[in-house]
Amino acid sequence: MKIGIIGGSGLYKIENIEIIEEINLITPYGSPSDSYLHARYKNFEIYFLPRHGRKHSFLPHEVNYKANIYGFKLLDIERIIGISAVGGITKKPGDLVLTSDFIDLSGRINTFYNDKVVHIDVSEPFCPILREAILESSKNLNIEIYEFGVYAQMQGPRLETPAEIRMLKILGADVVGMTLVSEAILSRELEICYAGINVVTNYAAGIKEKKLTTTEVIENMNRNLEKVKKILFNAIEKIPTQRNCPCSVALKETGM
Ligand SMILES: [Zn+2]
Repeated sequence: MKIGIIGGSGLYKIENIEIIEEINLITPYGSPSDSYLHARYKNFEIYFLPRHGRKHSFLPHEVNYKANIYGFKLLDIERIIGISAVGGITKKPGDLVLTSDFIDLSGRINTFYNDKVVHIDVSEPFCPILREAILESSKNLNIEIYEFGVYAQMQGPRLETPAEIRMLKILGADVVGMTLVSEAILSRELEICYAGINVVTNYAAGIKEKKLTTTEVIENMNRNLEKVKKILFNAIEKIPTQRNCPCSVALKETGM
């Protein structure tokens, strides 16, 4: 089975993982953020893509999300797990959140179908089967992860104001970020399963008086990345081979 993973480069460093090759792709939508790192883990073919490029060259509003996701399609990948660092609105630094819903305020046009009328259904925005595999793994490993969480996507690259965070809280957002929703929507448009694991690295603006230092944010991310890796590689083994989820038939009845 092939699995796509979008996240930081820290994810590559894991025991039992065999790096096979780097794949450079050019898609009809341009170049992805970096080459896809093809690796093998047990019987699974894993393809990593650093969302912002390995040298962190692309800010959230500069990432070519369409190329990144289409690249996975070209590699025949039907399942993607995205790892993101987020600001906590109702969650605190160090928490892990398996997003269950989203609010998109980024103003980005997240579609492959500019010239066709395609309205994909996102009443279940993240793949229920991938979510289930991740939840089951975290339970088995005794690693806490919030089963539900609403991700608010903002355009960036600046962080939010305290008033914006108050607004997001009223709207029901639990975490805030700039990337995950674009990936989830574009994946669904290509009938690719997508689920997101979020690491809360800091409080969103105005939530707590005390600001975290950059060092604390990086420490939070690194400490939690170990937990995320454990969940991720355990979850991969729990994903059923056959796809039986809304994502796999997302284009049915859309006229495509
Ligand atoms: Zn799915």
